[in-house]
Amino acid sequence: MPKSPDPVGRRGFLKTAATGAAGIMAGSKPALGQAGTGPAQQASPSDLTLRVKALESLLVDKGLVDRVALDRIVDAFETTIGPRNGARVVARAWVDPAYRKRLLADAATAMEELGLHRYQGEDIVALENTAKIHNLVVCTLCSCYPWPLLGLPPVWYKSAPYRSRAVIDPRGVLKEFGVDIHTDVEVRVWDSTAEIRYFVLPERPAGSEGLNEEALAALVTRDSMIGTARVTLDVAEVRA
Ligand code: FE
Repeated sequence: MPKSPDPVGRRGFLKTAATGAAGIMAGSKPALGQAGTGPAQQASPSDLTLRVKALESLLVDKGLVDRVALDRIVDAFETTIGPRNGARVVARAWVDPAYRKRLLADAATAMEELGLHRYQGEDIVALENTAKIHNLVVCTLCSCYPWPLLGLPPVWYKSAPYRSRAVIDPRGVLKEFGVDIHTDVEVRVWDSTAEIRYFVLPERPAGSEGLNEEALAALVTRDSMIGTARVTLDVAEVRA
């Protein structure tokens, strides 16, 4: 599995996530699709960061959690899993029409074919983007997300503005992510729950016909499987 070129430590992640979320909640920059890593946003620890650290310390003191084991689990989601599991599923569906059909009919069972088991215990549903339908995933209640497929959720996914506006004005939200949806394309918004998680099977980019499964998987981004991005192909790069 490819590693992140710039891995962020767990404690750094918690700090960045918390301060970034606080900035978004306050209505300040950055926009929805950005995590917010400017110096000003990192300067002050938030209540959330402090609460997480206090809770972790308490669990460790009581012997309920092993700090080393905790770091290993989080590190796996940060650097090993990432969105690559989901990308493998997408690439297989692109190259194998029969697999795509099985995936759309019963995603959990189809993913087991690739060694991806039901780690979270809930159902997972694959949503296919087409020329006529664009799917967008949100959790309006909290932050339900297919971690085993996509790794850590982005900060904006858990922010109040995304959770509310994705439902009220999905086209506007998509535009902020740089995704313009034509008026004759239907936008479907899917609300994740503790029982059902969704992930998007994005459209295969034009010009990718000559790429093998591994090269296709490398094109697939986390956001494209949430529905806030399209998968794009740099044709010049393919020809090189
Ligand atoms: Fe949730």
